Amino acid sequence: MYCFCTAGQISARDLVPTFGISSQRISNVVVTVYARHSSTCPHRNMKNAGQYRRCKCPLWLRWGKRHKRSAGTRSWEIAIKGARKLEEELERKALGLEPLKRPAATTIDEALELYFVDRAQRGIKESSKAKRLLGLLRNYAHARNAIYLEDVSARMLTEWRATWTFNRQSGGPAVAWSIVKTFFRWAHSIDLVSSNVSAKLQSLPIVRTQVQPLTKDEMARLLAATSQCGLSTEVEQRVRTFILLQRWSGLACVDAATLKRELLGDDDNLTQVHRTKTDAEVFIPLPPPVAAMLRSHPNDHPDYFFWNPDRMAKPSLVCQFGDWMRLVFDKAGVKHGQQEMLTHRFRHTFAVELLLAGVRIEQVSKLLGHKTVRTTERYYSAWVKERQRKLEAEVKQAWSKMELPTASGARMNAAAASSNLAEAVIDGMIQ
Ligand SMILES: [Zn+2]
Repeated sequence: MYCFCTAGQISARDLVPTFGISSQRISNVVVTVYARHSSTCPHRNMKNAGQYRRCKCPLWLRWGKRHKRSAGTRSWEIAIKGARKLEEELERKALGLEPLKRPAATTIDEALELYFVDRAQRGIKESSKAKRLLGLLRNYAHARNAIYLEDVSARMLTEWRATWTFNRQSGGPAVAWSIVKTFFRWAHSIDLVSSNVSAKLQSLPIVRTQVQPLTKDEMARLLAATSQCGLSTEVEQRVRTFILLQRWSGLACVDAATLKRELLGDDDNLTQVHRTKTDAEVFIPLPPPVAAMLRSHPNDHPDYFFWNPDRMAKPSLVCQFGDWMRLVFDKAGVKHGQQEMLTHRFRHTFAVELLLAGVRIEQVSKLLGHKTVRTTERYYSAWVKERQRKLEAEVKQAWSKMELPTASGARMNAAAASSNLAEAVIDGMIQ
């Protein structure tokens, strides 16, 4: 009864090619789902154990006398669907029909694996955020019986996205969505799926992150406060050197804390810690007093300014600096958020001061080690505008020393002329 019987009367109606569960299929090939319990499963020796459904042991398919294969899932629902599909395929084969033409279905797991391999080959360093996020998508889809990428619908993506609780302030949802979109665009471009479902969803708003640089007064108060917190002389010097390094290099906390001595050249240039492979090397010039402070800063490891990897792990080091900064900020009376990463304020100050002084955002982006200038714009666009306002004010100030065209004497009236001039000057400065 398990043979591929081709005898008997088969009407044309029975041969309607369908995938999925069909009421019209000829049921002479039966594929059975069964559980292959693990050696530790308490249900493995019970009667009819193969049909026990309440554990999470791997499921298998069997048909004919000795054919079997893994169902590739631990979900009974998915396995049963797979069994029905396999029955149809076996029947078509037994009847000598061509297999139905359809894209070779790729499971979500296979697609993700290939995606990350491909990205690595293209030299794209994958963030752990992307891996985690796409892993969440896979879990969400699996819980809804979708094992193939093709089964992930626009509706499913919409519902999944609605469950996100990422912090909006950190740009979370918009950034996460761009990760998902990149994945689906890629999958579609290499024909793993017949359409790009992510393109059907609207994008999410980018919440502008309010960056808070420090004023000159706040910087002075913070440096002064380092000696008022009851820290030992050694720690006090450590904290002050660290603050100045971050303020004048824009290094992120972990990069500053684990900075290698060899990266500071004799010319006081600091070699950029993070840089993309294709970019030329970027140097950050340090003011000579800051470079001198760094060089003379004692540390119990010869290779690093602040770190001793034999004594402390990176995360603990970052926490330690975070704790010291909290002390110093409180002592100096500089307001801050409870969860705020205070050392970031110095990095922001570095970026904003450069922008206000007229350095182009593309250059600031390179100095900060951002991958694209879009990231820099997300944080600092307000300060580019601020610079434009300053420029405009300066241009208008300069008019007081010039003879402006009069409304009657020139075709253009003074107001129009002034705004055109201002735009031209600003364009020239920004380009
Ligand atoms: Zn089991």
